[in-house]
Amino acid sequence: MRAAVVSEDRTFEVRSVPDPELESDQVLVRVDACGICGSDIHMRDSGMVWPGMVMGHEMGGTVEAIGQDCDTDLKAGDTVAVMPCRFCGTCRACTAGMPQLCSGLLPTSMGLGSRPGGLAEYVTVWPEQCFRLPGGVPAAVGALAEPLAVGFHGVVESRLSHGDHAVVMGGGSIGVMVAMGLRAHGIADFFVTEVTQERRDALATLGFEAVSPREVLGRSHSPDAVFDCTGVGSVLQEAIGLVRPGGTVLLMGVVERPAEILPMTLVIKEVSVRGILAYGETYPDAVAALGDGRVETDVLSAHRAPLDATEDCFRDLASAQAPPKILIEPWA
Ligand SMILES: [Zn+2]
Ligand SMILES: [Zn+2]
Repeated sequence: MRAAVVSEDRTFEVRSVPDPELESDQVLVRVDACGICGSDIHMRDSGMVWPGMVMGHEMGGTVEAIGQDCDTDLKAGDTVAVMPCRFCGTCRACTAGMPQLCSGLLPTSMGLGSRPGGLAEYVTVWPEQCFRLPGGVPAAVGALAEPLAVGFHGVVESRLSHGDHAVVMGGGSIGVMVAMGLRAHGIADFFVTEVTQERRDALATLGFEAVSPREVLGRSHSPDAVFDCTGVGSVLQEAIGLVRPGGTVLLMGVVERPAEILPMTLVIKEVSVRGILAYGETYPDAVAALGDGRVETDVLSAHRAPLDATEDCFRDLASAQAPPKILIEPWA
């Protein structure tokens, strides 16, 4: 099969690689689309990838074959969103309902750890990683479920309810998914802060209010929750300063360097800062939202490129001109 493989110089190169071998308890999925995101860039730039690795963790596809001992009601032809991780189900985190903290999660995750990901024509997965798409949702759109589930997880953990006020800092792909999550959960009173005009325009196309960070203070009446989706360390203190006393800051961006905060602000305002990883138990709801009108999928799935364009798309992804989501179509 064809796959976009990480090369010696950590660029992507389309090569022919062996077809994945279907274990008897697995499902073979044809990848219709695989989204790329900032996590892929962080992984690549931090050296957590190796030559020959196949990345890609946001997959929508079609079931092609089922292993003979596979315990599932999936059928060939079913369209699915593929969850890249497989939770063990027995560790302390899994049994406590926090599977995102499953021990050994990252090493076994597709496209992020030891298992090959979706920038390829096929993947093999276990049936519990497959979520059947609602009727009428194209297989490629299933690739949106993964990043959307991250946004949903942040919103659920914020414990916001109707009438509460929120600010989303950063209008990149995570910020867009959080905004989608807020709207899908009935939280209407929020806006997004974004530095670049291009991204503000893209957010407006999706129906979100987006403002320059300079305009925040005049607009916001002490938000109940602030989602920091910027990936910029210095923003954390701004978020802590902005949120109302007793409010919550949800840290969703990946920051790999120390960030300075003034601990006193946390104390005198009793602010909670929560890290948000992956999706806990929000995956099924994110899949459902792709089909029930709670989430705008047309704009988010509009920007597609063939496998050969993977390297170019990664270069675009880092720029402000990049669309909120780019999908790679291995069969295009
Ligand atoms: Zn991602
Ligand atoms: Zn576990």
